[in-house]
Amino acid sequence: MTDYLVTIGLEVHAQILTSSKMFCGCSADYADAAPNTHVCPTCLGLPGALPVINRRAIEHAISTGLALGSRIQHDTIISRKNYFYADLPSGYQRSQYDDPLCVGGWVELDDASGPRRIGLTRVHIEEDTGKLIHGDDGASYVDFNRAGVPLMEIVSEPQIASPDEARRYFQKLRQILVWIGVSTGDMERGALRCDANISLRPAGQREFGAKVEIKNMNSFRALERALQYEIERQTAVLRAGMRVRQETRGWDEARGVTDAQRTKEGSADYRYFPDPDIPPLRVDDTVIAECSARLPELPDARRARFAAIAGVSAMDAETLAADRGRADYFEATAAACEASGATPRDAAVWITGELLRLLNDTGEDLASAARRLPPTAIAELVQLLGSGAITRTTAKEVFELAFRSGAAPRVIVEERGLAVIGAGDVLARLAREALAGNPKAVAEYRGGKLTAIKFLIGQVMKATKGQASPQAVQAALEAELQRLDA
Ligand code: ZN
Ligand code: MN
Repeated sequence: MTDYLVTIGLEVHAQILTSSKMFCGCSADYADAAPNTHVCPTCLGLPGALPVINRRAIEHAISTGLALGSRIQHDTIISRKNYFYADLPSGYQRSQYDDPLCVGGWVELDDASGPRRIGLTRVHIEEDTGKLIHGDDGASYVDFNRAGVPLMEIVSEPQIASPDEARRYFQKLRQILVWIGVSTGDMERGALRCDANISLRPAGQREFGAKVEIKNMNSFRALERALQYEIERQTAVLRAGMRVRQETRGWDEARGVTDAQRTKEGSADYRYFPDPDIPPLRVDDTVIAECSARLPELPDARRARFAAIAGVSAMDAETLAADRGRADYFEATAAACEASGATPRDAAVWITGELLRLLNDTGEDLASAARRLPPTAIAELVQLLGSGAITRTTAKEVFELAFRSGAAPRVIVEERGLAVIGAGDVLARLAREALAGNPKAVAEYRGGKLTAIKFLIGQVMKATKGQASPQAVQAALEAELQRLDA
């Protein structure tokens, strides 16, 4: 049977995080607002209303281009993309066609064989449309609060080879956008959306097969599932000797299928032309340099830096650099640990272990938990453990208590009497009790079965609730056994 090569390209739309809309002063924070309360003549497309470009939106798009390795174009043009739809009051979307703001660039993925770059065609700016609401009464309504909210469209080259790779590309892109602060990345609220182009061709054929565009995928999983479905559908069509139709299809999450929506219009159908209301935009080197200077260290660089820390594995580094808040928290904790004589590795162990487990259990985010458990608290705990003041078992208990209550580890240890029970009267008494209560194990031990001591250690450990070290317990037991022999 013929094998088919899969070619995928993604178009990601990201709302740019600004306080006002792309071409007017209306608030872009529309999510919880009553319908049609964030509107003005400009974003309603009323005749005579003139647009003014939002400087912050341009700066954010430039920062995005810089983070993705794109070339920033000095002269860029806002065009009108003409089409008729109820959510588009002016009959055109302000977008870019010729001369987009950013050209080229890449998103780097980690493959088993090493890093792999997916090329970008362009990053351009445009405005979002309004939103149709289909009422229970059978009527449809339109809310223009979203109309005119700034968007970036990030277009990949057709270089993605599988649904899994498409998902990883989209995840990586989201990580970067959120990391540099240009988008919330909130997919549930529609701030980040993805369309995919996919075509199949027989192995060995040079020309691409018919391109199908899939819309309406609202999660990473939906993207992967929709592409998988399309591969199976198109393979079946081709194997039956038929042709795949070039069309737009929508992903139906509930049914797990794509449905034909409309045959794809060529770009000429949109009759793009430069918006006569907006003069060509000139971006000078100073603006680009400012954006570049404001750009934080990017996730890959930070992850590599973490992986180079002694005792921090590549997997831990990835976990610690998953988002900027977590990376900052780790670095602050590592610094506090070092200041008290511990190592950055100690910080990594507690954050990737206990902290993430507790956050996962409680569903809380790190920013909120960090108000109760600041980096210095972890350093304090590490120090208590390192100095032998508490055992590892106790340390885990104290960590959770500190996480839940916000009390300092040192205070928890004092108030609850959790300090290590060292060699001394208490341990000697507990050892005597264990020997007296377990004559069979004692007899076995005396008979030469040395492993019987393990059982006795366990009994004493239980009595101390884990507050003694096994070594101290063994020493106390051996001392008591010798005393009995004497
Ligand atoms: Zn407006
Ligand atoms: Mn678009």
